[in-house]
Amino acid sequence: MADVPMPLTFAAPRRGKPPRHFADLMPDERAAAVTELGLPAFRAKQLSNHYYEGLSVDPTTWTDIPAAQRESLREALFPPLLTYVRDVSCDNGATVKTLWKLHDGTLVESVLMRYGVRRDGTPGPNGVRSTLCVSSQAGCGMACPFCATGQGGLQRNLSTAEIVDQVRAACAALASGELPGGPGRLNNVVFMGMGEPMANYGSVLKSVRAITSPAPDGLGISARGVTVSTVGLVPRIEQLTTEGIPVTLAVSLHAPDDELRDTLVPINTRWKVDEVVDAAWRYAETTKRRVSIEYALIKDINDQAWRADRLANVLQARGDWGWVHVNLIPLNPTPGSKWTASRPEDEAEFVRRLEKHGVPVTVRDTRGREIDGACGQLAASESNR
Ligand code: SF4
Repeated sequence: MADVPMPLTFAAPRRGKPPRHFADLMPDERAAAVTELGLPAFRAKQLSNHYYEGLSVDPTTWTDIPAAQRESLREALFPPLLTYVRDVSCDNGATVKTLWKLHDGTLVESVLMRYGVRRDGTPGPNGVRSTLCVSSQAGCGMACPFCATGQGGLQRNLSTAEIVDQVRAACAALASGELPGGPGRLNNVVFMGMGEPMANYGSVLKSVRAITSPAPDGLGISARGVTVSTVGLVPRIEQLTTEGIPVTLAVSLHAPDDELRDTLVPINTRWKVDEVVDAAWRYAETTKRRVSIEYALIKDINDQAWRADRLANVLQARGDWGWVHVNLIPLNPTPGSKWTASRPEDEAEFVRRLEKHGVPVTVRDTRGREIDGACGQLAASESNR
């Protein structure tokens, strides 16, 4: 933990705005953008086909577009956004963390995880599923003391296209069979990489629309397969409740009491536990989507049995109609940090207490541990080189 707490930062520095990209545009804006370039409006549909269905980013290879127009399209609507820097993999190649450089040199990362593949790389009996964890900001302004990204501060918001293109790149990697288990599709997108998605609400929401619109208008991933996480920006949770998109909401609670949460999740000094849980409950009630409460178990900090009881009480005070599920996360310690994972016996007791109260609970698998698994660590170690 830093000796002096990091300040909370809501407004992203206004620098490094990326060039406009096709993936920033909603379907109704695409024809206008194409006609602005002096091209017939029907080209917009062809571009959608190439980008969202063909998963291609290079107009110079699109032979149904007149050769003379390809270069100007590349310049105007398909500037390179993500430049591959390197990746690190583990779990026999089924988890791949990719480090990307943005147009202004900013580094972000995304993590692709494949489930259901046997050790020999063949598909398992229950089918193969894939999840991508995306970044929504470069850095993060929420200042959680146990998190490497939070300690680095907020560099800038990502644009809609910078988020969408992380997903497109993962879809392309899966389609071309780069991961074990054979060619496949992306099933889930979780906004749990670098950044606080709700602090970049406009771009995140537009990216969710692009990710979930049926192809070729978008990437065609079911909204039910998309999870948007937050540390608890209550007004934005309330806004998401009204959007009519049935994504899963994940709230990083990490403590059931204000006293501890004020220090562990500093946004709690703005919106208290009760306000956040009320907003999450309203989200579940309105959307009929079960909310996920994320709780990183940290040794001797928030893993006491009495806090499990308290957590159960806080959640069940809003009813026990299946509106909520607790996802316990064994903390992945950051280098040089005093925050570390709970003892196995404390984790087991925490689970037992929640179950005793009838609260659905799972312990998240710790994919990516061997590859600097805590969010932001790959980018942090790269920029320290
Ligand atoms: S834990 Fe999440 S919200 Fe908190 S600082 Fe890290 S990236 Fe930001």
